[in-house]
Amino acid sequence: MKLELSFNNRKRFPDRDLLDDLKKVAEALGKETIGFEEYNEKGTYHSGTIAERFGGWHKALEMAGLRKYISLKKITDEDLVNDLKKVTLESGKDSITCREYDEKGKYGSRTITQRFGGWNKALLKAGLIIEHNKNFNTEALINDLKKVANELGKESIKSSEYDENGKYGISTFVHNFGNWNKALEKAGLVIKYNKNVTVDDLFENIEQVWLKLGRQPGRRDMKFPLSKYGYTFYTTKFETWKKALEQFVKFINSEEIETEQTIEAKAEEIGTEQTTEEKSEIVPRHKTRRDINLRLRFMVMRRDNFKCNACGKSPTNNPGTELHIDHILAWDKGGETVFENLQTLCSVCNIGKSNLDFNV
Ligand SMILES: [Zn+2]
Repeated sequence: MKLELSFNNRKRFPDRDLLDDLKKVAEALGKETIGFEEYNEKGTYHSGTIAERFGGWHKALEMAGLRKYISLKKITDEDLVNDLKKVTLESGKDSITCREYDEKGKYGSRTITQRFGGWNKALLKAGLIIEHNKNFNTEALINDLKKVANELGKESIKSSEYDENGKYGISTFVHNFGNWNKALEKAGLVIKYNKNVTVDDLFENIEQVWLKLGRQPGRRDMKFPLSKYGYTFYTTKFETWKKALEQFVKFINSEEIETEQTIEAKAEEIGTEQTTEEKSEIVPRHKTRRDINLRLRFMVMRRDNFKCNACGKSPTNNPGTELHIDHILAWDKGGETVFENLQTLCSVCNIGKSNLDFNV
């Protein structure tokens, strides 16, 4: 047997009577709607009876053809914060004064001030800027961050976790520290999602996304599955996406890439000693390694306009096209990994070429 709550011994008034009385009291007060406290003062029945019968006070109002009643107590902190944000954004600003809010807001600034214990605290909660308090206490933010992490028993917290349990808005942290991870760092917490990702990993990922797109990626492209790392990995390391791209380009351009000329020069410098990993009997002597480094790969694709040299397909005009780098003279046949001996092929043409080579 299931346990059920019982509400016995209560005289059952007809639904119609309850609704009629509700309407009557509202009319007598000259209002389109009514709160249950007001009703209890003037009504024939108890608000609880009505709410229970119709599945809630609002439902009863609806059945009686009255408007939804919003009691001050029913307005959640979130409602207030959301309206505060909305009004501020609509006026194209990042902060707002009580007076400005009272002109356009849905609620009163007094209600908001009382609820949050001050106008600035409300602004904080809404993630807005406190214009008249520039020297604001970042320590309070850090302390609250630590406190929440402690309460959750975690060495790191996600911004969404903080948002649920913390006192301040996420955007307040971002505004004061630059980004969420920097706030975590300041609080001595662990930055979970990028502690093992190196700049090289991030550059390599930029390149991969760039090649998949056949064009320079925008920050909106930096998301799974196109990108292995999200946009925030880049802003954490480089502050902005633009700076990340600039650093990437700087890295690509940082050294000369391997060309026939540069490897000749290098070979003279160090002698043409073969590395041990190259099997001398089978493989012809090489001055370069077989694998193509990120910079060289990128330069070759850029030279070829991110298009297949054989069929002309590119990810931009044929989404899904996968570009590869191919040794024009096969490495197995003595071809070097140098700019001149490399070309861009799509995966289809590249497989075709390997087969041909194989049959030769
Ligand atoms: Zn092709």
